[in-house]
Amino acid sequence: MTWSGPARGLIFLFGLMIAQTSSAQTTAIAPPAPEQAPPAEERALPTSEIPAKTLFGAESRAAKLKSRAIGFYSRGCLAGGEWLPPDGTAWQAMRLSRNRNWAHPNVVKLVKRLATEAKAAGEWPGLLVGDMTQPRGGPMTSGHASHQIGLDADVWLTPMPDRRLTWEEREKISAVSMLKDPLSVNPETFTPGVIAIIKRAASYDEVERIGVNPAIKLGLCRAAGGDKPWLSKIQGWAGHTYHMHIRIKCPPGSDGCRSQGTPDGTSCAAAEKWYADTKAWMESPKTAPKGPKTKRKPKPPLTLQDLPNACRDVLAAAPNGGPTLIAEAIVPPEQKPAAVSAVAASSGPAAFAVPHALEPAVPAAPAAALVVPEPQPALRRAQQ
Ligand SMILES: [Zn+2]
Repeated sequence: MTWSGPARGLIFLFGLMIAQTSSAQTTAIAPPAPEQAPPAEERALPTSEIPAKTLFGAESRAAKLKSRAIGFYSRGCLAGGEWLPPDGTAWQAMRLSRNRNWAHPNVVKLVKRLATEAKAAGEWPGLLVGDMTQPRGGPMTSGHASHQIGLDADVWLTPMPDRRLTWEEREKISAVSMLKDPLSVNPETFTPGVIAIIKRAASYDEVERIGVNPAIKLGLCRAAGGDKPWLSKIQGWAGHTYHMHIRIKCPPGSDGCRSQGTPDGTSCAAAEKWYADTKAWMESPKTAPKGPKTKRKPKPPLTLQDLPNACRDVLAAAPNGGPTLIAEAIVPPEQKPAAVSAVAASSGPAAFAVPHALEPAVPAAPAAALVVPEPQPALRRAQQ
C-alpha cells in the first residue's frame, strides 16, 4: 500500500459539495477518517523522479506534525497545516474542489481577522478566499509557483455576496478585474472598499508583502495621495488583476523557513515610472527586426529531491484532523444546484473564469490595447 489511500481521499473530496441552505439534503458527510490511511511506516516514499506536485497534490489531509512552514515560498512544504472552514461569519472559501483552503495556522488566523475586522468596520462585507495552500503544501498540480509553505493566500477583490454560495457557484463564479486597460484601474470595480481592504491587510504586522497588478498599485498610490507607510508593503506583480496575494513572514518556530525580507521598489515614484515606461513601450513603433525564435526550454518540475529534506517527513506523516475538522454541512452533490448566478452584475468581458495563474495578462480589450509589455524584471522576480 503506497499512495492510493490519499489519492482516493482527494478524489472523494472532489465529489463533495456545499449544501444550499434551502436544500432538504442535510446528511452530513466527512472525508475518510485518518485511521483509514496507512500508518507512516507503511507509506514508502518514492525515490524516483516523480514530480513533487504529483505527490503533494495527492494529499487530501494535513500532516500530523507541529505546525511549521518549511523552505521558501516557491520551494518547500507545510507541516501541521490548518483548514480554513469554507464558511465563516465574514468569509467564504472559493474553488473548494481544489482543496487548497489550508495554510499555516497564522495565515488562517489572519484571514479570519481581516474578514471580521473589515466587516465590523463597515469597510467590506466579507472575503471571498481563493487559493491558499494544499494540505501539506508543496508544489501545486496547477498554477502558482509559490503558495508552497502555507504562508500565501489569494483574496478576491470582489465583495462577498450576502448569501451563502453553493459548491457549484464557488467553482464557476468569475472574479471581476480591477482594470479598465493594462495601465489603469476601473473606477467601477476599484472602489473605496477595495482600497480599504487592501490597506487593512497591509496594516497587519505579520504581513510581509501584498502582490497586486502594477496598475492597481498605481491606483492605490494615486488614491492615497502618494507614499504612505502601508503602501510600502504593496508590490506590483504581473497578473493579480482581480485578487490580492497576501504573504506573511516566517512565523516563529518555523525552523528552515526563509522569509523574503522587506519588499523593494514599492515607492509611488516607482509605480509612476512603471506607468510611463510601459505606456512608452506600448506606443513605440516596433521596428526592431525579429530574430529567430528561440524556444525556451521548460524547467523540469521540482522533485522531492529539490525540496528541503524535512518535506519527506511531511509526506510520510500520518494525516491530521478528524471528521470534526470538516464542515458538517458538506453533502454529496445529489441535488443539482440552480443555475449559477454571477456575483456582480458587472462581471462582463473583464471577468475571468479561470484561476489567476492561467488568466491572460490583460482583460479582453480592443486589439490596440492588447499589446502587453513583457513584465519588468523586478516584477518577474517578485512573483517567486
Ligand atoms: Zn496569487
